[in-house]
Amino acid sequence: MSRTIVVTGGGTGIGRAVALRFAEAGDAVVVTGRRPAPLKETVAASGDRIRALECDGADPDQLRRLLEQLPERVDVLVNNAGGNTDFDRAEPDSLESLSQQWQANFTANVLTTVLTTQALADRLVDHGSVISIGSIAAEFGAGAYGAAKAALATWNISAATDLGARGITANVVAPGYIADTEFFRDQLTPERRAHLIGSTKNGRVGQPSDVAETVFFLASAGARHITGQILHLNGGARTTR
Ligand code: NDP
Repeated sequence: MSRTIVVTGGGTGIGRAVALRFAEAGDAVVVTGRRPAPLKETVAASGDRIRALECDGADPDQLRRLLEQLPERVDVLVNNAGGNTDFDRAEPDSLESLSQQWQANFTANVLTTVLTTQALADRLVDHGSVISIGSIAAEFGAGAYGAAKAALATWNISAATDLGARGITANVVAPGYIADTEFFRDQLTPERRAHLIGSTKNGRVGQPSDVAETVFFLASAGARHITGQILHLNGGARTTR
């Protein structure tokens, strides 16, 4: 039976791969994001099977408008929207730039997830799933970004508790370095890229499709007893530095 899937940040990278994975399986997928152009690309890549709705997941008014356009029943929410704004930090830091960076990281990675989940909570079907994209950075320290992803993982335990009464699972998928997304933009030198790959146990570059397969599994009936967990997806890497 076709399910309804909402993927935040579904216009690019990991979110697009996740959205396409569910669409390939015959599910009805809605992708959200702030920029229309990437969302249209995801729709085109799916052969117009995916629906796109512009929404900033950190904006309560936009979330209320999103609800008006969503179906009454949502089976799976994938909280993928996020990013690392530490890259943009000016050196040396002023207190103002530090404040801006911490707020930006917590807004992009935590607030979007918490608000979107709360907004959709009443739409989620019993025995549905909420899957949020964390990061290896939560474990190994990566400034405001790592702290935000750690907060996301802690919030997930509360979400699993609150939603568990309805049989809804809540889990975090925590990737290591995933290639070919906008995330690192031009921030990775060849040396740093080689270091990140070298820090894995399998010498492999993670792909958006790797994350998509894991998310797809966590949304399946076979994963119904997995909740409140962090599933690490990093080739065995033990560092982000
Ligand atoms: P991208 O930058 O390609 O994807 C981030 C997406 O989030 C964009 O589509 C962006 O769209 C969307 N987004 C950001 N802020 C908001 C918002 N307020 N409301 C709605 N959408 C928003 O990078 P990735 O695909 O790599 O990242 C996806 C997730 O994976 C992120 O949570 C990231 O932290 C995580 N991750 C990535 C890793 C990697 O190596 N690439 C490793 C570990 C975790 P728009 O700007 O149009 O809103």
